[in-house]
Amino acid sequence: MPTTSSPRALGVAVPSPLRRLFDYRPAGTPPPGGWAPGLRVRVPFGRRQVVGVVMECRDHSELPLAELKPVVACLDAAPLPADWLWLCRFTARYYQHSLGDTFHQAMPTLLRQGRALEGRTRERWQLTAAGRDTPAEALARAPRQAELLAMLAQHPHGLATQAILAQSFSREQLRALAAKGLVASHEEPLTARPLPDADHLLAEPALPLNREQAAALATLHERLDAYHPCLLEGVTGSGKTEVYLQLIEAVVGRGRQALVLVPEIGLTPQTLARFRHRFRVPVVALHSGLTDHERLDAWEAAASGRAPIVIGTRSAIFTPLARPGAIIVDEEHDGSYKQQDGLRYHARDLAVARAHHHGIPLLLGSATPSLESLARGLSGEWRHLPLTRRATRHAPARLELVDLRGRPRQGGLIPPVMEAIEETLTAGHQVLVFVNRRGFAPTLACHACGWLAECDACDARMTLHRQPPLLACHHCDRRRALPEACPACGSIDLRPLGSGTERTEETLAARFPKVPVYRIDRDSTRRRDAFEQALAEVRRGDPCLLVGTQMLAKGHHLPHVTLVVVVNADAGLYASDFRALEQSAQLLVQVAGRAGRAAHPGRVLVQTLHPEDPQLRLLAERGYAALAEQLLEERRAAALPPFRFLALLRLESAREEAAGELARRAAGALRGWLAEHALAADCLGPVPAPMERRQGRYHLQLMLSAAKRSALHSACAWLTAWLEATPEARRVRWSLDIDPQTL
Ligand code: ADP
Ligand code: ZN
Ligand code: ZN
Repeated sequence: MPTTSSPRALGVAVPSPLRRLFDYRPAGTPPPGGWAPGLRVRVPFGRRQVVGVVMECRDHSELPLAELKPVVACLDAAPLPADWLWLCRFTARYYQHSLGDTFHQAMPTLLRQGRALEGRTRERWQLTAAGRDTPAEALARAPRQAELLAMLAQHPHGLATQAILAQSFSREQLRALAAKGLVASHEEPLTARPLPDADHLLAEPALPLNREQAAALATLHERLDAYHPCLLEGVTGSGKTEVYLQLIEAVVGRGRQALVLVPEIGLTPQTLARFRHRFRVPVVALHSGLTDHERLDAWEAAASGRAPIVIGTRSAIFTPLARPGAIIVDEEHDGSYKQQDGLRYHARDLAVARAHHHGIPLLLGSATPSLESLARGLSGEWRHLPLTRRATRHAPARLELVDLRGRPRQGGLIPPVMEAIEETLTAGHQVLVFVNRRGFAPTLACHACGWLAECDACDARMTLHRQPPLLACHHCDRRRALPEACPACGSIDLRPLGSGTERTEETLAARFPKVPVYRIDRDSTRRRDAFEQALAEVRRGDPCLLVGTQMLAKGHHLPHVTLVVVVNADAGLYASDFRALEQSAQLLVQVAGRAGRAAHPGRVLVQTLHPEDPQLRLLAERGYAALAEQLLEERRAAALPPFRFLALLRLESAREEAAGELARRAAGALRGWLAEHALAADCLGPVPAPMERRQGRYHLQLMLSAAKRSALHSACAWLTAWLEATPEARRVRWSLDIDPQTL
């Protein structure tokens, strides 16, 4: 495609589900470097104006040139970062998603809205000559202004607005002082401050590594200038983070940038502090608490190279880097790396593609690697770096299976487990109780007729909550008042069925009235700081009980917990999803890893109705690696990922027949096409989705599978094209999920 600087047509990727470019006529002031791919433009689209990205500069169009609508404005002086454009194109192609929509999702909000990226500046405040001559006492009637004046007096080079606001001063106070002529501001460009040289990079010394850590780091050092994928498999507490920190040290010491991905739940102030304490260079964190401005600043800081270390959750994989040096993915097996709607990308898989593209090391760490990564580690495709011992004193606790059958339960806990809890508290330690369901009880049941509280809109039961009392569907968020009597038979004998976090909390609080009980789940931590506050209390070390969902299981260092109780381990054992066992084993090991992280050894009690289950026993007796190996053999035998590639077409509509009819036609058409082209890919279904009715709509799915990625991709590309060309498909909501994590 010839690129001319004065083209007659621009192929623009606009935010729309349609998988194609739209042609526009260049108009307005051309950018300084001429028209080029990668520039953002504002263009008319339908009845709106949208921000799109120029992808092609041409002298022709399929439409007569005179009929092309003109571009309203070019928004950039220079194209967006090339590495970012590459990643978006790769993502759109791999996930068969519209390119314009991919750009939109991968851009900070302000860029999406058309804000300029270049020439970002920051406001800096300094005292004026009059301000320097004014003693703070002169402002006796405005004490905060006086304090602000005094603070600025201590900073002869001035302070950035952000730094001033961070000290709890307000813009009004700044403006008031400016109106009095005592302070003035100027805009300064955000440019890179020179980095400390490699010898002065660290603010605190690195830890001396143990033998396994040193071997892992040495392997990483072998190839810092090439694509070098490594799987760091280390039990919790084995010192993986220390290896990340020392890899980052090497990368930043060579003038490059490191991108670190952590799970949604893992980007705690504790984690960040660990990175910030170690290095003298800025660590930019991308998390959900950032304002749009802060997010754009972080993006620009990474794109310009000002930020040597970038750490963030899933979407941080789309951070442009001026000098990429390494990508690290912590807890690489974590489900939060997969986006479950819209653009259904997997940040770990994109990290692999990106590291390969840049030719840089990729370090994936986990105590419980995904079977996908483990297979590549075991086959030698990736380097497999094991850390088998805890860096701290105690080996990880083994799982003890506790038989639930025929035992009375209170808040989900049986008597011997209650006793173990009591002993631990008496010994002055802390206990963590893991419950996989928030709310009071998984549902409400009528003891007279067997009625269960079901959601009107979903094939699911409503969860009973006590705080506040109501029935809630966790799938569609519908809420209902608690019925006074059974809607089916009128009996008033309605009882909670099973235990959620609230019920376990209530039981434990009644049983141990002198010990604080902290409940940690999505309901108890709606306030942003509530979680951190509770954890701060817990870290003080007094005996206490923690009751929580997986929010508690992941990432937190709870040094005083010595007993972990899993109320029910059975959810994953007999689920229909082929990944269920892998995922619940990962979660169990994570939860267990919270026990005995510091001075005292830990104990983990796992309650189950299936203590004889061979796979649960394998996990308990020989650990995750042994179970994972067996699961891999099963996957191989059943031709499932990672030995085969899958894609899922999901369809939904308010009318059951509409989605069903379309799904059957799509399946028929696809099978015909596969046969005609002798393509080795299978099409299964359509079948009802595991929860067929959800939010009042019917859900169906069609599964595609192939031994070769290329075959799967051809089939998916053909299928999406067919759906886009089929008028009936407009009345059905459909989406394609490549490498689905749940079926
Ligand atoms: P992981 O990330 O594998 O869970 P961490 O890196 O958090 O493990 O290490 C667990 C604890 O062990 C931390 O308190 C850390 O400071 C300590 N640690 C890690 N490596 C070493 C080492 N080589 N020597 C001493 N302590 C270490
Ligand atoms: Zn009833
Ligand atoms: Zn519902």
